[in-house]
Amino acid sequence: MRASMRFVRWEILGHPSSEVTLTARCLDPDCRWELAPTGDHRMGNDTIMRHTACTGHATFARSMQDLAVVVLADRAEQERRVAANKREYVARYAAEDAADDHAHHSS
Ligand SMILES: [Zn+2]
Repeated sequence: MRASMRFVRWEILGHPSSEVTLTARCLDPDCRWELAPTGDHRMGNDTIMRHTACTGHATFARSMQDLAVVVLADRAEQERRVAANKREYVARYAAEDAADDHAHHSS
């Protein structure tokens, strides 16, 4: 039904509770050194430079990773859908609980 179809706009945002993490991998062919993901970029880069100071390896593949979240551009519609998903989740959880109770009683 054409009337029920609507054009929906989405937005992609950095997740508010996440930080940008830095990881790095040494590109020396005989080395498997990696920097563990860290949100402290200064400390991460210092750690990479220490690896160079210790080994002479000077080339790294660095990557920055963030967590993205996609939301509806229409915030009121976004809130409505989140609330609807929560209600559905609660309803499903209650149904599973009831099924569990039934299983316990019949065993
Ligand atoms: Zn190395």
